Amino acid sequence: MIRKIVMFGDPVLRTVGAKVNAVSEEVKILARDMIETMNDADGVGLAAQQVGVALQLAVIDVSSAEDRPSEMWVGGQPVELKGYMPMILLNPVIELGKERELGTEGCLSFPKMNAEIPRSAKVRCRAQLLDGGELDFEATGLLARAVQHEVDHLNGVLFIDRMNSAAKAAFAGKLKRLQKSAR
Ligand code: ZN
Repeated sequence: MIRKIVMFGDPVLRTVGAKVNAVSEEVKILARDMIETMNDADGVGLAAQQVGVALQLAVIDVSSAEDRPSEMWVGGQPVELKGYMPMILLNPVIELGKERELGTEGCLSFPKMNAEIPRSAKVRCRAQLLDGGELDFEATGLLARAVQHEVDHLNGVLFIDRMNSAAKAAFAGKLKRLQKSAR
């Protein structure tokens, strides 16, 4: 089922997600719905807060973004990205690489707003999976960026918090309008 995407201004986007302690039927349905919602909106990632649920659960699928390549490693070995997409990450924890890079980013909770956001070029991510297993992987490219963006969401952090002041000022009017319509 496609769920309604929460827009900037809704306080749930600023709420730190609770840890997922058990993979209940409800969590499985939420994850499935989030993938459908992300695909329907042509997004590459979605956090539970964006469908109104403050939980440590995010979905990512960068496999269709062929113009923005990603690389992924599991256990230090390169892996075929498509075998891991879409990703459903429960309670993800990340370690950021030191090297930083700028890249264009948007967010489904901020329609028609794109900005250059600095992120780590490489990340390591450890997360639980729906089947009870764990995934420990490293990523670069768009996947690294998406993981950082989604983990930020799970902690109530939004991409506008990472924009430079000029970019944020350019969006001031749009942000105000979004906030108003959320009330
Ligand atoms: Zn977002």
